[in-house]
Amino acid sequence: MHKKLFIPGPTEVRPEILKEMARPMIGHRMKEFSTLLMEVTAKVQKLLYTKNHLFMSTSSSTGMMEGAVRNCVGKRCLNCICGAFSQRWHEITLANGKEADPLEVEWGKANLPEAIDEKLKTGRYDAITVVHNESSTGVMNPLPEIAEVMKKYPDVIFMVDAVSSMTGVKIEVDKLGIDVILAGVQKCFALPPGLTVVAVSEKALKKAEQVKNRGYYFDFLTFKRYLDERQQTPATPSISHLYALNKQMDDIFAEGLENRFARHKRMADSVRRWARENFALFAQPGYESNTLTAIKNTKGISVAKLNEELGRRGAAISNGYGKLKEKTFRIAHMGDIQPADVDQLLAWIDEIVAAGVPA
Ligand SMILES: *Cc1c(COP(=O)(O)O)cnc(C)c1O
Repeated sequence: MHKKLFIPGPTEVRPEILKEMARPMIGHRMKEFSTLLMEVTAKVQKLLYTKNHLFMSTSSSTGMMEGAVRNCVGKRCLNCICGAFSQRWHEITLANGKEADPLEVEWGKANLPEAIDEKLKTGRYDAITVVHNESSTGVMNPLPEIAEVMKKYPDVIFMVDAVSSMTGVKIEVDKLGIDVILAGVQKCFALPPGLTVVAVSEKALKKAEQVKNRGYYFDFLTFKRYLDERQQTPATPSISHLYALNKQMDDIFAEGLENRFARHKRMADSVRRWARENFALFAQPGYESNTLTAIKNTKGISVAKLNEELGRRGAAISNGYGKLKEKTFRIAHMGDIQPADVDQLLAWIDEIVAAGVPA
C-alpha cells in the first residue's frame, strides 16, 4: 500500500505532477527547452517576489548549499546553526576550504537577530548562512527580523536555505534583501527529488567574480552566461523536473499564493493544537514552523511502532532527527497535503495511541 508522506521530504506528489515527469524528452539545446526554461524561471521569480537571477540546478539542495558558499565566501563565513541542516551548511563551508565560524544555539531554539548582529559587528565576515526552516527541529527562524539586521551590513552576502519553507511561507526576497536563497523541489514544492532552484542577487554575482575556485558545476557566473546568452543551463538538466515544476507553478498560482500560505498556517495551527493537547511542542515558543511540527514524545511511546501502525493505514510520519530519535517525532504538513489529510492523520494517531502503542 502506498503511504501518504507526512515526512519533511520527499513529500507527497500528486498523480498530475507525476504525469508531467513522464512527458517525451526534448533536447536541452533545442528551442522548445529554452521556452520551457524561461517560463519556469519567470514563475519561480514571481513566487519569490524577486527580480534576482534565478537558476535551476540539477542536484539536491545540499549541492547548491555547497555552490552558494563556493561562490560567495571570500573572507570568512558566519554559519548560523540551530539543528542538523544548519550544522551541515557549516560543515560544507569548512569542507570547501573556507574560513567559517559557527553561531550555535541549542536544538529547538531559534537563531535570533541580536546574536547575529553581535557577530557581524566584528567585521570579520563577508557572508552568512541561515536556514529559514530547520527541518530537524521544527524551528522557523525569524527571517524578516534577521533581514533587518542584514541591512546594516551591505557588504555581507546573505544566504538562506529555504528548502522546507519555500512555497509554504511568504518569502519576499527583494524586500528582505536576500542575496542567495535556495530550495530543493522535493519538500514544499511537492515534486520528486532531483532539482533545486536558487535566486541570486546582482550583489552576489559581483561577489562571485572576485571569489577564486568557484568550481565548475555550481558556478553562478556560468549559470548566468548560459541563461543570458542561450536561455539554457550549462549542463544537461533534469528536463522532466522542469515540466513538472512548470505545471506545479501554474497550480500554485491557481490556488493563489496567499491561499497557499494560509493553508500551511491552518495545517500548522491544527497540528500544534493537537500536539499541545496530547504531547508537547519541541520548538521554542513563537518560532514554530508553519510547514512541519516537531513533537516531544512526552508519553514515551515507540515512534517506530507508531509509524508501523500508521503504515498499515497508509501514512508515514518521521521519527526525530539524529539525536532526537524517539525523543521527538515530526509531522510535515507541507506541499500539496490538505487540512483534511492532516485531520485524518491525527485521528489515526489518536486511535493507535488509545489502543496502546507497544513501548
Ligand atoms: C532536506 C533539507 C536539506 C537537504 O536537502 P537535500 O535535497 O536532501 O540535499 C537542507 N536543508 C533543509 C532545511 C532541509 O529540510
